Amino acid sequence: MKILMYATVADELPYAQAWSEKTGHQIVNIEEPLSENTVQLAKGFDAIVTQQTIAIKPIVYQTLYELGIKQVSLRQVGYDVLDLPSAFASHIRLSNVAAYSPRAIAEFTLTQLFNMMRHQKAFDRATVKGDWTWAAGGQAREIHQLTVAIIGVGRIGTSFAQMLHALGATVLGVDPVYHAQNEPFVTYTTLDEALAQADVVSFHTPLNDDTRNMADSHFFKQLKPGTMLLNMARGEIVDMAVLEEALATGHISAAAFDVAPNENDFMNRIQAPEDVPDNIQRLMQYDNFYLTPHIAFYTNLAIKNMVEIALNDAIQLTTGGFTENEILR
Ligand code: NAD
Repeated sequence: MKILMYATVADELPYAQAWSEKTGHQIVNIEEPLSENTVQLAKGFDAIVTQQTIAIKPIVYQTLYELGIKQVSLRQVGYDVLDLPSAFASHIRLSNVAAYSPRAIAEFTLTQLFNMMRHQKAFDRATVKGDWTWAAGGQAREIHQLTVAIIGVGRIGTSFAQMLHALGATVLGVDPVYHAQNEPFVTYTTLDEALAQADVVSFHTPLNDDTRNMADSHFFKQLKPGTMLLNMARGEIVDMAVLEEALATGHISAAAFDVAPNENDFMNRIQAPEDVPDNIQRLMQYDNFYLTPHIAFYTNLAIKNMVEIALNDAIQLTTGGFTENEILR
């Protein structure tokens, strides 16, 4: 079978090549994402895989159908880039890699929690300028003193909860879906209760109609003064203007994000600082705001798994087979 791999990055190439040698399927890699401008490149291929944050518009699915392609397999968890009704209308089967390494994102979330707790950005910036005083960053709290609310106790949220519990933190979970096996390390509660009690709030939900703009002004008002906020999920979950105000007034003590609603305007490229969107430029001035370029997933194990699993799924979907990763109507 001949597979076109869109939006390939250099790290993925060795795993794609190894898979190709192992399975005998041929892979062609291109750097561009799948879009209305690049969909014609799929002509002559049997299957496609991609990993991207740019939305795949309705016309793309229709064109794929006309080219004889039966599926789109994502090498990522979040599938808000897909237009499900359009894909299904064009008889395109879809898959995501639901779990390439939940631990990768959970470990990074923990890293950023410790960075916020220890005022790491303030100390780093101060020492560069020659300020080696304790006051440059300030006193820290210890993790076993903290109550952490996890919004979305799925694969990543569960992994994060297990680590926090092992470190002695109190872990609250908010999720419409209850998993009894999480009881040893998560206390399930309502969103209102969690926000009233938490020292740290961390988002691990998908982006959907319920979670879009979930952290609005009402949400922020419910937070205890001094709360730390983590968003490794999707930028659109948090109203960035309200976040900025909460940082400016000191209502929250810190925030660490790996995503932003406008991240496609500046992430994943090298760019002059003054060309980054204005709100991001302002936010980056804060010692207590951390923004990373969507790297929480970025470990060797995660890359290997996302490539191999998506390629296997592409074969299954193309040949009429089954994969547990299929996104169903
Ligand atoms: P998952 O599907 O295993 O878990 C998501 C959980 O959120 C589910 O348990 C679901 O019931 C819950 N949920 C849905 N709506 C909710 C709501 N309104 N309130 C509370 N809980 C709700 O997904 P996952 O693998 O844990 O991934 C979570 C998200 O993390 C992804 O959708 C993606 O957006 C993001 N992500 C980010 C990175 C990164 O590198 N920064 C990498 C992978 C995934």
